[in-house]
Amino acid sequence: SKKLVWFRRDLRSFDNAALGAALDESGAQAWCAFVFDTGILAGLPRDDRRVHFIHASLAALDADLRRMGGGLIVLHGDPRDEIPRLAARLGVHTVYTNRDYEPQAIARDAGVAARLEADGRRLASFKDQVIFERGEVLTQGGTPFSVFTPYKNAWLKRLAAEPQALAPHDVESRAGALAPPPAGTALPGLADIGFIAPPAPVEPAGMSGAAALFDHFLDRIGGYGGTRDFPALDATSHLSVHLRFGTTSIRHLVRTAQQVGAHGAAGATVWLSELIWRDFYAMILAQNPHVATQAFRPAFDGVAWEQGPQADEDFAAWCAGRTGYPLVDAAMAQLNQTGFMHNRLRMLTASFLTKDLGIDWRRGERYFALKLNDYELASNNGGWQWAASTGCDAQPWFRIFNPLTQSRKFDPDGAFIRRWLPQLAALGAREIHAPWLADPALLQAQGVQLGRDYPWPLVDHEQARKRTLARFEAIRTER
Ligand code: FAD
Repeated sequence: SKKLVWFRRDLRSFDNAALGAALDESGAQAWCAFVFDTGILAGLPRDDRRVHFIHASLAALDADLRRMGGGLIVLHGDPRDEIPRLAARLGVHTVYTNRDYEPQAIARDAGVAARLEADGRRLASFKDQVIFERGEVLTQGGTPFSVFTPYKNAWLKRLAAEPQALAPHDVESRAGALAPPPAGTALPGLADIGFIAPPAPVEPAGMSGAAALFDHFLDRIGGYGGTRDFPALDATSHLSVHLRFGTTSIRHLVRTAQQVGAHGAAGATVWLSELIWRDFYAMILAQNPHVATQAFRPAFDGVAWEQGPQADEDFAAWCAGRTGYPLVDAAMAQLNQTGFMHNRLRMLTASFLTKDLGIDWRRGERYFALKLNDYELASNNGGWQWAASTGCDAQPWFRIFNPLTQSRKFDPDGAFIRRWLPQLAALGAREIHAPWLADPALLQAQGVQLGRDYPWPLVDHEQARKRTLARFEAIRTER
């Protein structure tokens, strides 16, 4: 019987589990659809970079589906109404889709499934976004992991035993079943859904964008282990936004990393670990849905974070990149202007907010959610709870990043700071990490006056550190 494939965060026409399953031997017609969810769009700024990225990636997906004889039906509304209505209109029995593990998505899909079933139809869902989901990698005792390294070892072991987990889902050879979209359902323009192009769009978008980034990264992957922590080098893949929206396939990336690693590129093995972190945090969220709003370890819900007008002011300064710590501020400038932030700097800025300013990690998490192109509830929450020491396998609470040491170590000559804080561009490598420690006459000679061109530091790190230790000691958790 006829089928409908509902795309969400899997915007590609190759190695797509739901699409591959819909195009089965029966040869029955299959339509493809995407819904711009008005409930999600309503909360976003008009120039949201992610909406622009999705729109550009849909155009590319549509073009590729048309090349194969199909095309994309694009709707605008609440998927709970739109998908069952479309299924009825097309006379489709089963709607195929790839599983999404975020709590809101799970609720939405349950709603769609219920409406379809009430009509005698069905929602069939597939694993596509991760290599191993929820309960597929467990301890020997059959319980979920909460520490990364043993999880990773078990993950690798399972993959060795089950290499077919990486097998690509074939689409091209059965593409003859793809049905062209009915008239009047083509992709609307960005303006038609109420959005405009952002000043700095995320580029490159779409499947070909992801492929170009990966090609470029493969030239450098061998050195990843040694370079990945230095934001000025830009040595990472930038594929996170593509993994977020599925314009690349996680199976393809893992397969390639394994092959390249087997041929001696040491960095590929380190990079594969990062992809496993992504599965790990997805598993953590699926097994412990309370983490979306609470500490992974409940004892840490007792931490008394700073509140009130001073905390609000400090938070606003952090968001705007006005803390007076140049590497923190440069990182926030990168986030605010591009929607990307280097992993080392995500750790640094999250640590600074929670441990230097004493502000609840949930406020920082929400700000990142608003700004990050690659925003992913599971990884963002995992990263924030790691930095705040409230999470699984987190940074121990008594080990506190020194923002100055981090700056000197990971941006030694200040190249990253200079790129994002042009007002400090004239400072030398000695002064640039902590302008407040420099001789004011020297700063003046380099055109910088603190308080006028760049802020004084918001806090003294040593004092902040003591306050944080006291804050955590107060909840008397085990060291
Ligand atoms: P690469 O270094 O090329 O890594 C390859 C891929 O591995 C990434 O694209 C990503 O999918 C995955 N990955 C790498 N590091 C991690 C990690 N620590 N946890 C989970 N997956 C990882 N990543 C997101 O995708 N979305 C988020 O919302 C997000 N929020 C974060 C918040 C904080 C506070 C922290 C500390 C980290 C966060 N990360 C998040 C993880 C990481 O910072 C980004 O995935 C990475 O910087 C993206 O750049 P890249 O694609 O060049 O990474």
